[in-house]
Amino acid sequence: MNEQIVDCGIVGGGLAGLTLAIQLADAGYSIILFEKEKYPFHKVCGEYISMESYDFLERLGMPLSNMDLPMISEVKISSPNGTTFTRKLDLGGFGISRYTLDSTLAAIAKAKGVILLEETKVTDVVFENDLFLIKTDQHTYRAKIAYGAYGKRSALDKKLNRGLIKPVSSGGKNYVAVKYHVKIALPANRIELHNFKDGYCGISKVDGDNYCLCYLTDSKNLKNNNGDIKVMEQNVLMKNPFLKKYFAEAVILYQQPLTISQVMFSKKSTTENHVLMLGDAAGSIAPLCGNGMSMAMHASLQAFLLADQYLKGRISREDFEKSYGDQWNHLFSKRIKTGQYIQHLFGKALLTNIVIGMLKKVPFLADKLISSTHGHRF
Ligand SMILES: Cc1cc2nc3c(=O)[nH]c(=O)nc-3n(C[C@H](O)[C@H](O)[C@H](O)COP(=O)(O)OP(=O)(O)OC[C@H]3O[C@@H](n4cnc5c(N)ncnc54)[C@H](O)[C@@H]3O)c2cc1C
Repeated sequence: MNEQIVDCGIVGGGLAGLTLAIQLADAGYSIILFEKEKYPFHKVCGEYISMESYDFLERLGMPLSNMDLPMISEVKISSPNGTTFTRKLDLGGFGISRYTLDSTLAAIAKAKGVILLEETKVTDVVFENDLFLIKTDQHTYRAKIAYGAYGKRSALDKKLNRGLIKPVSSGGKNYVAVKYHVKIALPANRIELHNFKDGYCGISKVDGDNYCLCYLTDSKNLKNNNGDIKVMEQNVLMKNPFLKKYFAEAVILYQQPLTISQVMFSKKSTTENHVLMLGDAAGSIAPLCGNGMSMAMHASLQAFLLADQYLKGRISREDFEKSYGDQWNHLFSKRIKTGQYIQHLFGKALLTNIVIGMLKKVPFLADKLISSTHGHRF
């Protein structure tokens, strides 16, 4: 048992965990952050960040405006049969790889005094006598507040009895996601979203003159192609004429694609046995909305403001947990629902062809759909 009691223990050093740790450290609290990987590392993500979080990241010390990042102001969408439409994005976004973003935030957190334990996997979190015992294979750490910022899936969900995984037979779809960094000649100010049967693929520019090519598909597509990603790309994705061209032209920079499976999008719970959840651990939005990262960071701002009140003795633990849940729902529940709805619209080849044909004719509907999955700058 580690003798020190820290103010906050945070499980998971993705965007939610890192940005929360930095804010708490800035306010003078003692923080321990556990990350099972070692920075820098790649993550499956489309790497398009909505402008909502630009100012917030700069306030935390992330030097975005000096990084010569691509600013993205339009979206081009194609249906499986190649019908396209292009729209200006109201808010827009910017591109940066998770490799660069997460590792830079980790360095900022360390410089601000966060105890950042890399290659350290949390195996359990127990609430006992008004304190959290955060357990790894080697040690047990003690904290006044514990946050779960461990992303979409973790063995911790089971430990906390969250019961989130809906089997495919009961209607819960199972998706796989694949990502590459590539060199390709495409406009830097545009994100492209190309649909194919039971999936879609996003391409946009990130730092280092690279492009992120990332797709999500129903796992059935992979199963029907002998579990072979290359064969699936050939047989399914390349039926879309844009993807056929891009896969032929792109220089792929990874030896192997980066993949994740058993991806689902839903709202979960914001508190589990007094552990406050944020980022994808609290609920994830369908990736085609391009908003999960900003939501994770926005939740960290709410989580910080309330933790500050609690640690100063101004609110009880009960009020802390309740207010956090209320605020989270107010900010994100509707967006996640709309994201699920859009995900269904883009799920089937024929339906996607019809929807895109319609959005092309009534473009303000497309603007409305996009804006309903986004919030304001914070
Ligand atoms: C295919 C795909 C494309 C996407 N594209 C976009 C996009 O273009 N724009 C956008 O805004 N969003 C996108 N998203 C969503 C976005 O990636 C997530 O919403 C965002 O990463 C959530 O951040 P997080 O901090 O909650 O989780 P993560 O970034 O996943 O971080 C969680 C961290 O916790 C660590 N961890 C897990 N378990 C433990 C443990 N037991 N102990 C210690 N550490 C642990 C993990 O290693 C990880 O680093 C996409 C998602 C998918 C699946």
